[in-house]
Amino acid sequence: MATQVVVVGAGPGGYVAALKAASLGAKVTVVEQARVGGTCLHWGCIPTKALRASAVALDTARRLGEFGITPGGEPTTDLAAIMARKQKVVDTQTLGIERLFQSWGVELVSGRARLEGSHRLEVTPPEGAPFALDYERLILAPGSEAVDLPGLERDGKVVINSDDALGLSELPQSLLIVGGGVVGCELAFIFHTFGCQVTLVEALDRLLPIPSLDPECSKLLLREMKKRRIAVHTGRVCASLERGAQGATATLEPTPGSQAKGKAAQPVTIKADKVLVSVGRRPAGEGLGLTEAGLELDRGALKADRYLAAGPNIYAVGDVLGPRRPLLAHMASAEAKVAAANALGGKELVDYAVVPAVAFTAPEVAWVGLSLDQAQELGLEAEASSFMPRGLGMAQALGELAGVIKLVHEKGSGRLLGAHLMGAHAGEMVHECALALKLGASVSDLAHTIHAHPCMSEAISEAADNALGMCLHMPPGK
Ligand SMILES: Cc1cc2nc3c(=O)[nH]c(=O)nc-3n(C[C@H](O)[C@H](O)[C@H](O)COP(=O)(O)OP(=O)(O)OC[C@H]3O[C@@H](n4cnc5c(N)ncnc54)[C@H](O)[C@@H]3O)c2cc1C
Repeated sequence: MATQVVVVGAGPGGYVAALKAASLGAKVTVVEQARVGGTCLHWGCIPTKALRASAVALDTARRLGEFGITPGGEPTTDLAAIMARKQKVVDTQTLGIERLFQSWGVELVSGRARLEGSHRLEVTPPEGAPFALDYERLILAPGSEAVDLPGLERDGKVVINSDDALGLSELPQSLLIVGGGVVGCELAFIFHTFGCQVTLVEALDRLLPIPSLDPECSKLLLREMKKRRIAVHTGRVCASLERGAQGATATLEPTPGSQAKGKAAQPVTIKADKVLVSVGRRPAGEGLGLTEAGLELDRGALKADRYLAAGPNIYAVGDVLGPRRPLLAHMASAEAKVAAANALGGKELVDYAVVPAVAFTAPEVAWVGLSLDQAQELGLEAEASSFMPRGLGMAQALGELAGVIKLVHEKGSGRLLGAHLMGAHAGEMVHECALALKLGASVSDLAHTIHAHPCMSEAISEAADNALGMCLHMPPGK
């Protein structure tokens, strides 16, 4: 008899866990309270990238003259058409998951699940009475939800979150984005390109304040934002907000505890039609009956062992595990494959050391492995070598000069420890570095791998050449 596996949530964690368990011969049921695809497909990765594709097209249209093409006048945006295209992309992908469920024999149950004693869930469907669903193995993948800031609570009209931003029917003239993480920075580029006057405020002293990302990428990203006239305030918080009928007035003050002096210590007042709060997400375990079922939580995040077991016959994957691992769709999917295999008798582990991440800004920023600071904090003898993509023929041909490619490697052995890429196609290029890390390759391996010309990836082999002191496309000694 096939093992009965029930999966709660059909985001990139849950739907991949379901497909994997089905591929291993289990009888799988997925309980989902909304449409399949989760945050990633409906409010995250895919809708933002569809909007970004429109922004990139607009950017290119504005630059046509630079490429010797006579533009037919200033391009204009039609937000309704942009949003309709985004929705079409989302709907196509949603249907794709539903079809995959059908072809792998996965049953989809619509409703909200709650743990009810051992081996049983209570499912409350959108209509009708709750019913019981029994399982032999349970995989929990309920994801996460946007957090509010005190004083900046979402009202859906003036103060919005990323979910609201992805469904706007009118482009605000001005937008204050609170939070300079990946989502805040991506949305800043998108809405600025559409014609919105964007101000971004970040409490820490850099954009993308992520310990595993090299600070030079943050510095260069700030420069690119300023070039585009996106106003950026780092080291400041939105200390107070007055909401009005037509928008809000925010007072930005230095982050409490900062050593700001002179002008930097003075408050700044920003008027904006809308305030988009993008300061992170919290695990969505509420209402699932997790603690009542004896499962352990750590600041709302479900605790699981190295095999992703959260309790007897219960496994957990994705954002519900919280920020001790990256809150990323491909992280959730990687965990899903491991949890499904382990739920069916496996003993697999997730490799958390090699998880590429991409900020789809302009240009893209991508990274994998350790930053130099992290490597040194771990006691490793590490150093970094860089190459500027502007030195490449392909960067010149594309008209995409901004960025830096930096490799972190062990002194002596040259073992690659991390890669930090900013520039055109960085989000694709990072995977070469991820594979190199996974295989324990060195900068010498990267330098001696012939890269096709002309490609942006040549910057990786140039940075590796630089690590070996033999970069021919830079003046000696740089
Ligand atoms: C604006 C934005 C942009 C992003 N961009 C990227 C990106 O470019 N790349 C990337 O890797 N990540 C990105 N992310 C993060 C990514 O979306 C998440 O890491 C990912 O969706 C987590 O997957 P998950 O399966 O754990 O949870 P989710 O995708 O949140 O799915 C959880 C599902 O569980 C369901 N559910 C919850 N509770 C119950 C219940 N009790 N009963 C039944 N169903 C339930 C929910 O309805 C939901 O469908 C982005 C996030 C945001 C907000």
